[in-house]
Amino acid sequence: MTLEAIHSIFDIFHQLNPNPQTELYFEDPYTLLIAVMLSAQTTDINVNKATDRLFKLAKTPETMITITIEDIEASIKNLNYYITKAKNILAISKILIAQYHGQVPPHRDALETLPGVGRKTANVVLNVAFNQPTLAVDTHIHRVANRMGLCTTKTPLDTERELLAHIPPPYIHNAHHWLILHGRYICKARNPECQKCPVNKVCHFFTC
Ligand code: SF4
Repeated sequence: MTLEAIHSIFDIFHQLNPNPQTELYFEDPYTLLIAVMLSAQTTDINVNKATDRLFKLAKTPETMITITIEDIEASIKNLNYYITKAKNILAISKILIAQYHGQVPPHRDALETLPGVGRKTANVVLNVAFNQPTLAVDTHIHRVANRMGLCTTKTPLDTERELLAHIPPPYIHNAHHWLILHGRYICKARNPECQKCPVNKVCHFFTC
């Protein structure tokens, strides 16, 4: 895909939704970190139900370590792998208190040492909480970007690198949300709604 076509895709996304937001509920970097970590293998809707219960009990590292693991598990029981995720919530909270004065560190290296936090979660937190121009590529963004022709890659990490190299810099910060929302509501895995897609004129999948 030409740089001109890539530019036009993000121009269209920008015109339609100039300020895209995550659909996860959060209040600050800590609640965002917990919500994104919980979102692995489940939907944002399910995470919001879980955090609605959990954050009523505790929404800081200091308060989280005062409630029991059973309380955490009960709050997030609707999520896949909730037992492991509950352990991670407690472990993350203890590490943040012990090593970062109870704050979420704004650095990838530090974030990726936290239990249950991988590159994708770190990228979301850096992007949303700390306004950094990162791209969190999950399997959905990987699929959408390759289907559209934004890149031709085999792994999410390669997709992240290609997108960061070719998306116009002013659009990188929002690109992650635009692509997630596009994949969630229009360019769906099984039945992409190409006829009503706003970028179908430049999409490789639709035009080839
Ligand atoms: S035209 Fe179809 S395949 Fe291409 S981006 Fe739009 S929905 Fe996805």
